[in-house]
Amino acid sequence: MRGNPDAGNLYNPRETKPHGCLVEAMLIDPFQRAISYLRVSVTDRCDFRCVYCMSEHMTFLPKAELLTLEELDRLCSAFVALGVRKLRITGGEPLVRRDIMTLFHALGRHLRSGTLDELTLTTNGSQLARYAAELKGAGVRRVNVSVDTLDPAKFTAITRWGKLDRVLEGISAAKAAGLKVKINAVALKGVNEDEIEDLLRWCGERGHDLTLIETMPLGEIDQDRTDQYLPLSLVRARLARRFTLDDSDHRTGGPARYVTVRETGGRLGFITPLTHNFCESCNRVRLTCTGTLYMCLGQEDAADLRAPLRADPGDAQLIEAIREAIARKPKGHDFVIDRRHNRPAVSRHMSVTGG
Ligand code: SAM
Ligand code: SF4
Repeated sequence: MRGNPDAGNLYNPRETKPHGCLVEAMLIDPFQRAISYLRVSVTDRCDFRCVYCMSEHMTFLPKAELLTLEELDRLCSAFVALGVRKLRITGGEPLVRRDIMTLFHALGRHLRSGTLDELTLTTNGSQLARYAAELKGAGVRRVNVSVDTLDPAKFTAITRWGKLDRVLEGISAAKAAGLKVKINAVALKGVNEDEIEDLLRWCGERGHDLTLIETMPLGEIDQDRTDQYLPLSLVRARLARRFTLDDSDHRTGGPARYVTVRETGGRLGFITPLTHNFCESCNRVRLTCTGTLYMCLGQEDAADLRAPLRADPGDAQLIEAIREAIARKPKGHDFVIDRRHNRPAVSRHMSVTGG
C-alpha cells in the first residue's frame, strides 16, 4: 500500500519512521488542514422520507452501482492507512443496507490495532433495536440518532414513513447495550421550533447530548426550503431565556459548537452551516456508496475512487487518487438560503453524501 513519491504530490507521501519502516504520510490539504475524519455513506436508500432530506418518490441508484462491502472496507482501510482516525458510517439509512454488520465487524480491526480512534454511525434509529448489541460488539461506542420531535404524529409527518415508538425502542436498546447516544434534530420553522425546549429536557433526563442542525440546501425536495429554515442563532437566544448555556470547548472532531446546559448537565451542540462558517477547521471528507469522494459537503467537485480501486488489486492507484483529491479540497462552501437563492446550492441530496 504505497504511493508513488514522484507523482507530483504537494508533500512527500512517504516518510521513514526511526525504526526504518515506510509509512504513508498523513493527508494534509492545501490549507494545512489534516484530514482525519471520513464519513461514508454506505447506501443512498432509506426506510424514511424526511421532508427536508428526500422527496417522497426518490429514484435510488441501481444496486449494481454500489460498491460491495469488501470494497468499502478496502477504501476505508486505505484512508485509515493515510491517517484517518475517525470513521462515521451514514447514508441514506446505513442500517438498511444488507449485511452491513459485516462492514462494522471488519472495520473494528482498526480499533483493535489502535490505528483508528473511533468507529461510529448516524442512524434514524428504526433498526437500532435489532443491531445495537452487535454494533457494540464490533467496537462502536457512540451513535447519533436523528429525532426531530417527540410527538408521534409530527414524527410521522416529518419522516413520512417513520414510527417514533420504534425509534425510541432503538434508543433504549442502544443505551442498554452500553452505547452512548447523541440525538440530532433538524430545527424546522413552524414544525418543531416550539418543542426544542422539551427535547432538550428529555435528552437531559436520559443522559443524551443533543445537537441541533440548521437545514442545508442540499438536493431537490418537494417543499420550499425558505419555509423550513430556522436560524439556530434565534433558537439559541430563545433557549437562553429558560436555560443557562455555558460555552464549552468540547469538540467531537465535527463542526458542532457546544454549550453545557447548567440545568440538565447535558451538552447542546449547534451545527450552523448558514449562520456560522465552520470551514476553517474542516478535517473531513465524504465518500459515497459508489466510491465518489466529496472534499466539501457544499461544493460539487468530487473524485472518483471506484475506478482506481477496481483497476489495481494493490492500493497504489487508490492512494494516489486520494492524495490528488485532497490536494483539491476547497477552502469552504457557500450555502445560501434566501428568496433569491431558492434552489439547492448543491443538487445532490444529503442522503447521497451522508449527513
Ligand atoms: N438516515 C440517517 C439519519 O437520518 O440519521 C443518516 C443519514 S441523514 C442524511 C444524516 C443527518 O442529516 C440526519 O440527522 C438528518 O436529519 C440530517 N439531514 C438530512 N437532510 C438535511 C438537510 N437538508 N439539512 C440539514 N440536515 C439534514
Ligand atoms: Fe432517511 Fe436520514 Fe434522510 Fe431521513 S434524514 S430521509 S432518515 S437519510
